[in-house]
Amino acid sequence: MSTALLKVKEKKPGQRACDEKDAKGEICVGHLKRWYFFDPHRLAFTPEEQEARKEFGDTAEVYRCERCHTIYRPVSGDLSTAGQKYQARPVNILGAFSRKK
Ligand SMILES: [Zn+2]
Repeated sequence: MSTALLKVKEKKPGQRACDEKDAKGEICVGHLKRWYFFDPHRLAFTPEEQEARKEFGDTAEVYRCERCHTIYRPVSGDLSTAGQKYQARPVNILGAFSRKK
């Protein structure tokens, strides 16, 4: 598992703007948009999108800053995003692959 291509942060409840600081210490304030990195009709994906698919799964709810492209994941308990209930799931991604037969 590698996050080399993606910078991932947690989106605070109700957060709409990026709070990532640049080299000068100024806050980005870019707009956080829902990032649909997977589209079943597309044949090719950018390396960044491929990484996101590996990291989050194809249907994950993920947001991305439109300025600095920092990725934001909603924290559990945040019900403010797009009216969807966020299901808290174990963070350990290996759990998905370690089911016993
Ligand atoms: Zn930003």
